[in-house]
Amino acid sequence: MKRRALVTGGTAGIGAAIAEALAHDGVEVIVVDVVPEKVEQYAKDTGRPAYVLDVSDFDKVESTLADIEAKHGHINILINNAGITRDGLVHKMCRRTQWNSVIEVNLSSVFNTVRVLGAGMRERGWGRIVNISSMNGQKGQFGQANYAAAKAGMIGLTKSIALEMASKGVTANCVAPGFILTEMTKAMRPDILEQEAAKIPVGRMGAPEDIAATVAFLSSKAAGFITGQVIAVNGGQYM
Ligand code: NAP
Repeated sequence: MKRRALVTGGTAGIGAAIAEALAHDGVEVIVVDVVPEKVEQYAKDTGRPAYVLDVSDFDKVESTLADIEAKHGHINILINNAGITRDGLVHKMCRRTQWNSVIEVNLSSVFNTVRVLGAGMRERGWGRIVNISSMNGQKGQFGQANYAAAKAGMIGLTKSIALEMASKGVTANCVAPGFILTEMTKAMRPDILEQEAAKIPVGRMGAPEDIAATVAFLSSKAAGFITGQVIAVNGGQYM
């Protein structure tokens, strides 16, 4: 059986590393991301199909994923990796969008993609869904109530999907990264980043490849008895 994966937010950071790891394992990889120039450049650099898609857009997700499957064939691995932060203390979050955008991009996106691709995976009797949550969704984080709520919500959503699909050969799991060096963390204040890095028992920040290796395993045929789990990849920072 040909494995074919869709990686959201796949042109950069952790998503790009996941795409590489899956391709290395012989998976046909298709990437979607939100900025057209980045998508175009990614397709040029890697030769992989890449499409513009805002995963928080319910209707666009449905039509774009239908187009992608019509062109490339059925997708049987879905990696929900796209995510954003809009940090701030709750009592200072004056704009509704600061809450809503983070919930829409990080959490509703998973509903949007799974409802479209999950149906086919169930029918065909095989699939792998991996959702990139966060250590901060497990433990909470100062200034990240919106993000932590979205990432914690993703865990409940994943466990429910896992139950609904377990008898159909489809697994659904979360990977919960700790601090990984990407554009997202580079946007943090350097002193805070340094403080956080000092708390990591293995003595370094994570690399995108640390997450990608776990995702690649969960996407493999060998991982068929693992479902509804949250795999922490955080250097021991939160156990
Ligand atoms: P990143 O470098 O910012 O990459 C995220 C990618 O998702 C970017 O290409 C981004 O595009 C894209 N994206 C943003 N909004 C989107 C949308 N509406 N539709 C489609 N794509 C969208 O972040 P990362 O650090 O690799 O993070 C990847 C995932 O891991 C995220 O879900 C994040 O929450 C999670 N995570 C990261 C860390 C960490 O320490 N880095 C820790 C825990 C969890 P643009 O940036 O071009 O807008």
